[in-house]
Amino acid sequence: MMRVAVFGSTGSIGVSTLDVLARHPERFEVVALAASSSDGRMLEQCLRHRPRLAVLQSPEAAARLAAGLRAAGAATEVRCGGAALEECAAAGDVDAVMAAIVGAAGLPSTLAAARAGKRVLLANKESLVVAGPLLLESARRGGATLIPIDSEHNAIFQCLPPGLETGRPARGVRRILLTASGGPFLRTPADRLAGVTPEQACAHPRWRMGRKISVDSATLMNKGLELIEACVMFGMEPARVEVVVHPQSIVHSLVEYVDGSIIAQLGNPDMRTPIAHALGWPERIVSGVQSLDLTAMGRLEFEAPDVERFPALRLARAVAEAGGTAPAVLNAANEVAVAAFLSEQLDFPGIARLIERVLDRHGNGPAADLDAVLAADRWARGLAQSMLPATAGAGA
Ligand code: NDP
Ligand code: MG
Repeated sequence: MMRVAVFGSTGSIGVSTLDVLARHPERFEVVALAASSSDGRMLEQCLRHRPRLAVLQSPEAAARLAAGLRAAGAATEVRCGGAALEECAAAGDVDAVMAAIVGAAGLPSTLAAARAGKRVLLANKESLVVAGPLLLESARRGGATLIPIDSEHNAIFQCLPPGLETGRPARGVRRILLTASGGPFLRTPADRLAGVTPEQACAHPRWRMGRKISVDSATLMNKGLELIEACVMFGMEPARVEVVVHPQSIVHSLVEYVDGSIIAQLGNPDMRTPIAHALGWPERIVSGVQSLDLTAMGRLEFEAPDVERFPALRLARAVAEAGGTAPAVLNAANEVAVAAFLSEQLDFPGIARLIERVLDRHGNGPAADLDAVLAADRWARGLAQSMLPATAGAGA
């Protein structure tokens, strides 16, 4: 029996994870669930999966959840706040943590799970971007196993030889090819991008995801974050990770070896495949995902990304090369910019513009410890927030 805690259970990845777990009651036990403030959805999940513990961040939401559970006669304990979440990540009755909180907010609990030697199913790519080397080091020291959930990185993990050591390059690999759907604006002319709405940006053609990652997919910053994630996770220099636009999202990524062989992982675009892979690894377990019908699909297309229309990718590549605290700054500025776009304070091209302005002011330094990284994150958030009005007014 593997005892699993699902952090970010009320989100898109969390719901898919609970779906896979519920298919294997003989194999997995849900011991803890965590989210921010969605107490209604959390109550339903607690009544269905009967965890020992539920952690919310909002005290008001936690109080409502506790009252709901009492009324239903459920025994789940409710706790609240960041310290409770970190304790839960390290708890003795937790074997595996699904890290699916969105944004840098997921870093402390992901680190706690790594330090405590858990199997960490890493969906929260922002924590690898913000503090990648520190997270890998914590996992090594704690004896944790990190398995990527991001579909591309999970695909790469599957295409690499067994026995991978995270952060170290696998022998014989020449390149990694990271596929990108191109997002909802793949064919939108540059002069129309200033007029796109949050609803259009969140209507991803292939994947149903949370709003933040949906906007990231639309700007291609998602692929930029994933480029950094791949370099850290697989110990590759940025020059050896190439982004290829593949609108069908069937080939989830590819690994090219020095002999010219390319190994790819294919499947329907459904996050339950990488989730089931990471939960069952090294075995294979049923995920609920339908078989891929290749003849119905007919064609698979590939093209180069357009970094003129999508400058976020160019910014992320420069940051991947710079290293230090630059990735933390890029991520923090992006989180502020995306939130501003979603609340209609910033137009779509303004997202990359704001990030570039913050990066221009950043004096890069080593990401020596967590304090250095968190200081860079705070600095970038403050600056991005203060530059918001001027950036919003600047026009495309
Ligand atoms: P959602 O927005 O759907 O869900 C986010 C989850 O995080 C919710 O459960 C939310 O709780 C919780 N949360 C937010 N802030 C906090 C906080 N401060 N403390 C505790 N919990 C918090 O996001 P997704 O599921 O789409 O994405 C989650 C992560 O997985 C992201 O890092 C994303 O990049 C990554 N990912 C997602 C993919 C996808 O297909 N969705 C694919 C690949 C990676 P509440 O409901 O209470 O707000
Ligand atoms: Mg991805």
